[in-house]
Amino acid sequence: MEPENILTTSISAAFDAVFTMSSDWSRMLHLKSTGFLQQTDTPVTDWLHQYIPQEDQARVAHMVREAVARKQRFRLIHRVRTANGGTGWALSSAVPVMDNQEQIVEWLVGSIDITESHRASDVTRTARQVAERQIRLYETITASTPDLIYVFDLNYRFTYANKALLAMWGKEWEAAIGKGLRENGYEDWHANMHEREIDTVRRTKLPIRGEVSFPHAVLGRRIYDYIFTPVFNEIGDVEAIAGTTRDITDIRNAEMKIVESENRFRNMAEGADVMINVTDGQGTNVYFNRLWAVVTGRTIPDLLASGWLDLVHPDDKIRIERLLAERTEKKLRWKSEFRIVRADGSYLWLLLQATPRFHSDGSFAGYINSLVDITDIKENEQRKNDFISTISHELRTPLTSATGFVEILQARAVSDGDQHAASMLTIVEKQLDKMTRMLHNFLNAARFESSNMHMRIERFDISILLHELEEELKATVTSHILSFKSREIWIDADKEKIAQVIHNLISNAIKYSPAGSAITIDCDIINGQLRLTVEDYGPGIRLEDQPLIFTRFYRVRNTQTKYVPGFGIGLFICSEIVKAHNGQIAVESWPGKGSAFYFTLPVA
Ligand code: ADP
Repeated sequence: MEPENILTTSISAAFDAVFTMSSDWSRMLHLKSTGFLQQTDTPVTDWLHQYIPQEDQARVAHMVREAVARKQRFRLIHRVRTANGGTGWALSSAVPVMDNQEQIVEWLVGSIDITESHRASDVTRTARQVAERQIRLYETITASTPDLIYVFDLNYRFTYANKALLAMWGKEWEAAIGKGLRENGYEDWHANMHEREIDTVRRTKLPIRGEVSFPHAVLGRRIYDYIFTPVFNEIGDVEAIAGTTRDITDIRNAEMKIVESENRFRNMAEGADVMINVTDGQGTNVYFNRLWAVVTGRTIPDLLASGWLDLVHPDDKIRIERLLAERTEKKLRWKSEFRIVRADGSYLWLLLQATPRFHSDGSFAGYINSLVDITDIKENEQRKNDFISTISHELRTPLTSATGFVEILQARAVSDGDQHAASMLTIVEKQLDKMTRMLHNFLNAARFESSNMHMRIERFDISILLHELEEELKATVTSHILSFKSREIWIDADKEKIAQVIHNLISNAIKYSPAGSAITIDCDIINGQLRLTVEDYGPGIRLEDQPLIFTRFYRVRNTQTKYVPGFGIGLFICSEIVKAHNGQIAVESWPGKGSAFYFTLPVA
């Protein structure tokens, strides 16, 4: 083989493409390749565009210019357009061929195809970049949490500690990592405990959770909650233990405060001479204080299991059950009086105040019921009632005879033509009439209390009764504008008592609404029942007082009603009479605007 040929052959064997360039690289003279780059036998002037992809053209051109100027060989890794039209990577070495005058005759260039290895290193580079990005991400996360995050190797040495943990130790990374627990300031007992836990996690391959309390350099004694988790290698063995620790001192302190305040409440509730019980949001009893057991003779577990409703006096039970259901459904505060049976079988009167309670998010949490013994007050009330009833009864006889004598005297004055005496006697008669009505009310109140109502049922047309009342009232009432509206409606009822109800409602409207205002009395059939409404434009009644005004002796105390005289029995009597007739009485009222009292009765 010719020496020249040997050279060309060995060069060709060492490179994947061999080519020659003109002295100034303006032309590629020819190129030989084994499939890596496009071969050519004829000179190519725009070799840069043909062989080099655009992103590397500037870099390659620059390198060439430098080399030509310095007449120096060079090496370059660059992208190439491969013979199959794709992009590859080449390591090219260019050597200038000189003549005797040290002038460049041409350049001899060899390129090695490094596409594969370059791609592989690309992959490692990308993998490294991804890993670095992830490390940065985790570093940011672990550095920004106040929780302590760390990793132990199987020899109990820290291989990672986040910023918070390093800060807690007061150490730099280099001083702490690779060190064991004791070297990082853990006391013996503490280090031993964690080392045993690391062993356990390693053996069981399961996480461990614990709580530990120890002093912090600055913050004093703190409580920590921690979790050790196994880190597995690719064959499933534990190769490290990752841990996180959270400072739960504040949570624990808050919990302790709640327990303390609950204990304080319990002590107060246990010592109080008020019966207290608490229910949850579902109405289940969750607490009874000791007094409940003392009064009822039941054990607290019994009370918790069966509640207190079956202890209520049979006469009060239906009313209380109804109130309980109604008020609880609307989650309202409510009050009521009723009797419950004592351990010895006797009854005591209680005043119940039921207060709804709510969680901090506003959801319903149940009721707190406090019950005070009002037996003494009730007995006093009874005595007062008996007294009033006796007095009323005693006064009735002289009053009846006084009324009789006044009537006789009046008749005589009229026949004698004594106008002066006659009109004075009319006034006396009206006053006696008022007094009689009052006594009537008192007596009725006492009678209703002992469920002793005597009824004289007859069939009558209510419009006639209303007409009589209208005549009577229009003659005597000048302070208000009364207007009556009714139609023929027949009912079976005690006429005198129904008249008393209507009279009481109208008297209240007159008593409580301003002089000169209108009062309307309207009677009609609604939903198949008689409905009589007395409406006024007075001060109205607040919602919370509305159910109470029908109870005996209840009077609303406010600036408008303070100076209006009364005993608080009028509406109680109305309500008892209406109920005895299987009717209902109620009020609709708008404070500041007025009230509409109405009752219903079955029609005949
Ligand atoms: P009394 O009028 O003697 O106080 P009642 O039993 O008739 O007793 O009424 C109970 C309470 O109801 C009254 O004290 C008053 O506060 C309120 N009330 C009754 N009727 C009206 C009304 N028409 N307007 C405003 N408040 C009224």
